[in-house]
Amino acid sequence: MDRQKEFVLRTLEERDIRFVRLWFTDVLGYLKSVAIAPAELEGAFEEGIGFDGSAIEGFARVSEADMVAMPDPSTFQILPWSTSKGHQHSARMFCDIAMPDGSPSWADPRHVLRRQLNKAADLGFSCYVHPEIEFFLIENAPLDGRAPKPADNGGFFDQAVHDTAPNFRRHAIDALESMGISVEFSHHEGAPGQQEIDLRYADALSMADNVMTFRYVVKEVAIEEGVRATFMPKPFSNHPGSGMHTHMSLFEGETNAFHDADDPMQLSKTAKSFIAGIIEHSGEISAITNQWVNSYKRLIHGGEAPTAASWGRSNRSALVRVPMYTPSKSSSRRVEIRSPDSACNPYLAFAVLLAAGLRGIEKGYELPPEAEDDVWSLTAAERRAMGYKEMPGSLNDALAQMERSELVAEALGEHVFDFFLRNKRREWEEYRSHVTPFELREYLGL
Ligand code: GLU
Ligand code: MG
Ligand code: MG
Repeated sequence: MDRQKEFVLRTLEERDIRFVRLWFTDVLGYLKSVAIAPAELEGAFEEGIGFDGSAIEGFARVSEADMVAMPDPSTFQILPWSTSKGHQHSARMFCDIAMPDGSPSWADPRHVLRRQLNKAADLGFSCYVHPEIEFFLIENAPLDGRAPKPADNGGFFDQAVHDTAPNFRRHAIDALESMGISVEFSHHEGAPGQQEIDLRYADALSMADNVMTFRYVVKEVAIEEGVRATFMPKPFSNHPGSGMHTHMSLFEGETNAFHDADDPMQLSKTAKSFIAGIIEHSGEISAITNQWVNSYKRLIHGGEAPTAASWGRSNRSALVRVPMYTPSKSSSRRVEIRSPDSACNPYLAFAVLLAAGLRGIEKGYELPPEAEDDVWSLTAAERRAMGYKEMPGSLNDALAQMERSELVAEALGEHVFDFFLRNKRREWEEYRSHVTPFELREYLGL
């Protein structure tokens, strides 16, 4: 047995762990968990744990109903809060999902990302990611269509005088760090109740695992503080939504492939083609980076969310931004992609972003000119004249672009591609036929 597995088994005994939670993610980005007793784990390492895949979103297909979860020992972590309540510890491990014959499941988002990372490796690159995760703390989470109440009245960078936000952030960060997830930065965001926590960079697969863990930990800690956390992209009509700005870089061995000391922006040809790839394919990948009907309520003019496929240095209306605050440090040269929201499936989102960027590199795309203007203040005609491609305005638009995309079909694989489109078409149709309070207010008097 390899060293990591031995370490896990030893830790279970030494720390008197009660449950081992085996985690994986469905195609829509929901975290799934099956708990086993520690005594079962040695067997699980060898043969996996069988489960009925037909009940899991995106895994269903009768012939593939029997699936096997194979725990990845490198992801073993003890969950932070169990002892604070006098309970025995639980631990978690992410799983790779296999078919009964042992081959990787095509429906497993982790496998989709791993496949894309292998493709990057074939080109000589490893991929690092750091996300800035925004979310809201709300007092309550009514499920009957009433608006929630933000848990505080703070604004950007406010050091709130009442307790919820700073206490919450301290506890959440302690919990994350105890699980090996380093936090770089945290602050109150622009809207009441809105928080941001930025994670220190990691390889893309570990980061996707970290994002899933993050959402779980943040929700648990919020409940302990007597509030709720939501990653809904746009819970309030009159406040900005929650983005997950995604910083990416490619390394060749120890060298940051995005850095070029001789370039005025210190950006390499590789970085420029990567950005061009993201811009060129941004419409096709949008249904993945922004996967809900509600996601498109965030991507509007104002609110610091991107609406046009453009790039710039300090331009916050741009889709891709090249952060300039650490220009002398070659290892931190990276690009910030501002479209993904906090409710995306991080495995699939990182996979399609990487696919788009790599396509730009492989085909040697040219970087379009930098967008200096605030694209939010231009009219649609001005934007067209200046060559800005608009981002999809609705899930419907995004699905229409994804449907035609050979790039996304290849990145997701046929199974996830088909399932996703079918599932999201249904979501759109349900939404489209729903009469909203807005319409009643505007039109009942007709
Ligand atoms: N909340 C904004 C968004 O939806 C981003 C604000 C910021 O620049 O951090 O993307
Ligand atoms: Mg922010
Ligand atoms: Mg940012």
